[in-house]
Amino acid sequence: MTGVVRTRAELRTALSRPGPIVLVPTMGALHDGHRELLRAARAPGRTVVASIFVNPLQFGPDEDLDRYPRTLDADLAVCEEEQVDLVFAPSAAQMYPEGAPSVTVHPGPAGHRLEGEFRPGFFTGVLTVVLKLFSLVRPDIAVFGEKDAQQLALVRRMSADLDLGVVIQPVPTVRDPDGLAISSRNRYLSESERRAALALPHALWAAAAVASDGGSPEAVIAAARAELDSAHLAVDYVALADPDSFQPAVTGPAVLAVAARAGTTRLIDNIRLELTGAADH
Ligand code: AMP
Repeated sequence: MTGVVRTRAELRTALSRPGPIVLVPTMGALHDGHRELLRAARAPGRTVVASIFVNPLQFGPDEDLDRYPRTLDADLAVCEEEQVDLVFAPSAAQMYPEGAPSVTVHPGPAGHRLEGEFRPGFFTGVLTVVLKLFSLVRPDIAVFGEKDAQQLALVRRMSADLDLGVVIQPVPTVRDPDGLAISSRNRYLSESERRAALALPHALWAAAAVASDGGSPEAVIAAARAELDSAHLAVDYVALADPDSFQPAVTGPAVLAVAARAGTTRLIDNIRLELTGAADH
């Protein structure tokens, strides 16, 4: 039976069990990607805690905080099916009893690029709420999706740099059969926008093919951009980043990260690749 707690006090009582605690932080509207995280979390002897919290701190003033899907009953059914031990679903007042915190987590240089550039304050909001969840739940392990590769890298950095002692367990991106990465925001897409959004996975695959043929970083990026442009998506960025530091990558292991908008819906995706080609000069 999945238990549900909504306050810090209830959480503390519910967590007094032996064995490792594994936290899966989410914003709810659970889909097959989240299910994969919940399955990766489960192992004999572990207590699996899923948090469901739409964190106001990580939404910009023009973003979709108000229309972000909230489907708690369906989410609890998913957690029950995936044998989650405990769901922590706090209100904003429980998480931020004194309002927005004045002390927050500074994401460092990796947090100012890509998503951080297009969503100012986003990673401060994410890392602050993740740190608070770590403090409240005290997990041994926390599970994060590679779908949000920059977030994964920053959470790893935070756990290491601030000696949080939480092992970060990554889970590969779960995709629909046609390749579109599953996201809670996909439900905003019209039929034609969803078709156009397929240019994201196509861009990643085209770029990966160029990289494995020994193409230069510029050629890898150009291949991705051509796919996105052909679908008339509004591209925020196409970039090669070091998987750990998220600084620009020109050789060796890299993440190709893309962000683009289909209509008003902003989508991100990424793929790991190996850069062996020389940079163009
Ligand atoms: P969210 O609820 O969108 O904040 O995501 C919660 C967690 O689920 C994050 O660690 C995401 O990276 C992960 N996640 C979201 N979508 C996917 C997906 N399609 N595949 C794998 N992980 C995902």
